[in-house]
Amino acid sequence: MKTDLSASLFEKARQVIPGGVNSPVRACKSVGCDPLFVRKAKGAVVVDVDGNEFIDFVGSWGPMILGHAHPEVIEAIEKTAVDGTSFGAPTPLEVELAEMVCDSVPSLEKVRFVNSGTEATMSAVRLARGYTGRNVVVKFDGCYHGHADSFLVKAGSGVITLGIPGSPGVPEDIVKNTLSIPYNNVEVLEETLRDEKLDIACVIVEPVAGNMGVVVPEMAFLKKLRELTAELGIVLIFDEVITGFRLALGGAQERFGIMPDLTCLGKIIGGGLPVGAYGGKREIMDQIAPDGPVYQAGTLSGNPLAMAAGLAMLKVVRREGFYRELEEKSDWFAGELAGIAAGAAVPTTLNRIGSMMTCFFTPDPVTDFESAMKADSEMYGRHFRQMLAGGVWLAPSQFEAAFISGAHERSHLEKALEVTEWSFKKLA
Ligand code: PLP
Repeated sequence: MKTDLSASLFEKARQVIPGGVNSPVRACKSVGCDPLFVRKAKGAVVVDVDGNEFIDFVGSWGPMILGHAHPEVIEAIEKTAVDGTSFGAPTPLEVELAEMVCDSVPSLEKVRFVNSGTEATMSAVRLARGYTGRNVVVKFDGCYHGHADSFLVKAGSGVITLGIPGSPGVPEDIVKNTLSIPYNNVEVLEETLRDEKLDIACVIVEPVAGNMGVVVPEMAFLKKLRELTAELGIVLIFDEVITGFRLALGGAQERFGIMPDLTCLGKIIGGGLPVGAYGGKREIMDQIAPDGPVYQAGTLSGNPLAMAAGLAMLKVVRREGFYRELEEKSDWFAGELAGIAAGAAVPTTLNRIGSMMTCFFTPDPVTDFESAMKADSEMYGRHFRQMLAGGVWLAPSQFEAAFISGAHERSHLEKALEVTEWSFKKLA
């Protein structure tokens, strides 16, 4: 595969951008290669600057549920742009998107738009602290909630991928107020939440973990989490930045029938433009400025282009049958993949729900951070490079999800399966 242009761009990028990238995992360090620079993408296919084509299972890390450059999203952005790109004043588009989001996600009565998933989680935690007058945040090992200080304690995503145990630059005082406990462990959960000395403001959870690879919650765990937080007056925050509009129109909360107090959204909600949102019960949301005392703001929040892209994307996913078709397609693909994995000499474990999945290079069940960490990252790196050589673009880390989109056709999925079978044979 010719990669000269990517290589020379990476060389230039490294002179002026730390590590040559604007988000660490993109550098592909843990899979042992240099990044490919993208020229364009359409549907399920990404084209790099050297002209190589790949079937894409990264989907920009989740947002591209319709595939790339969906005509309705692009048209909405183009039409909106000619009337101006930012006003710092309310526009009709943000009201329309807020109504659509509240109508789609069952627990939302009010929603505030921000510019990223990190802003959404950071603001939701501040709100929970302001609302309860307490300080401590409980999170789960291997879950990732963006890069705000409070969350970089036993975090997932790039923090695991790069083996960073936390982060320099995060003050001890902040770490002291974040407690990280094991995912899917009801006993530790109950013991922690019932500890009155802890002064817990909120629990934040990925209702399906996607940042230590996909780890599906046990229903007993999620139910207990809801029961205990309700009983103890602790705000329950679902971080649905990945799962929102992915596992169902109403996200994981709709799929599992469990309603949080606050929900964080990102990725799909912006149609591929930078949008995040947090929302929930009216009583809590009304504590935000200007009506309440909890401060949060943004120069570009509710940006018209981003609102237009989000609206266009949500209009498509709200159409009859969208999630049913995505589920059927993902079911078929995962079934075939499991068959290939079962017949292969390398041991793997496939975790999957809806259109998100991770094939872990370990024979054992993966139910939490500890079991995810047993996966063979070096083997994943070889698999990643072989898949790339075969024309399939996976996430450059064992601890991320592969996403199927509405744009993946049977032929794309069949080709990906063929390349996977070939790669597994070569790994053995
Ligand atoms: N929460 C979850 C569950 C995520 O997966 C991510 C990003 O991957 C974030 C929050 C942070 O979102 P962003 O990268 O838009 O800041």
